[in-house]
Amino acid sequence: MLDKLISLISPHHCVVCSDIADGMCKKCMLQLKPFNSHNCILCGYGLNTGNRCCSSCELANVNQLITVKMSKDLRKLLHEYKYNNKRAFCKVLAQIVSNNIDNTGRNYIIVPLPPSSKHRRQRGYDHILNIVRHLSKMTNCEYEMVLRRKTNFRQVGADRQTRFIQAENAFISRYPLSPDRTYIIFDDVITTGATITSAVRALRSGGARKIQILAITHRALEVG
Ligand SMILES: [Zn+2]
Ligand SMILES: [Zn+2]
Repeated sequence: MLDKLISLISPHHCVVCSDIADGMCKKCMLQLKPFNSHNCILCGYGLNTGNRCCSSCELANVNQLITVKMSKDLRKLLHEYKYNNKRAFCKVLAQIVSNNIDNTGRNYIIVPLPPSSKHRRQRGYDHILNIVRHLSKMTNCEYEMVLRRKTNFRQVGADRQTRFIQAENAFISRYPLSPDRTYIIFDDVITTGATITSAVRALRSGGARKIQILAITHRALEVG
């Protein structure tokens, strides 16, 4: 209760150590561990570690980069950002990602995953896009709102199979895409990979040939 009160009065603190920071201070950010998994988020098969792409499933030839491991501290930061209206935390979340990837540059386009309109209404802002705006500046990559969401559903609480059925054709691409440019789909947290796979499908239908996946973290689906 007291914690909640303090965070309402002074949002510009580290969620971990309470130092002055917009969400997480540098010291606590350094404590986050790189994700370092060599398994495909979708099929669980080993990734080709050289370019981090899977060669055996629907995500074949899609480079997958999940930035850091889920931890108590990261969960808290994400929770405050997504469910407690701490909009300013988008910058530190972008920083966590950009600290852990090579600067990618001009031939890459970051594609934010569009949230459901219900989520957007509830929050009053697009939480993915806000991170991407910062990430774009930090990495020198452009971003484009390539994807449009076709159906509105909530993935939270749905089991793995339901998620895949719901997400099967969740997105379409708004315009024809270039086969020569690399499209990096960005989501905050990947769980089953159902939503992001649907996004990959939409980009491929739109004409993209070079596709990558980028996320802050991965969280195994909690059962029950
Ligand atoms: Zn701290
Ligand atoms: Zn795979």
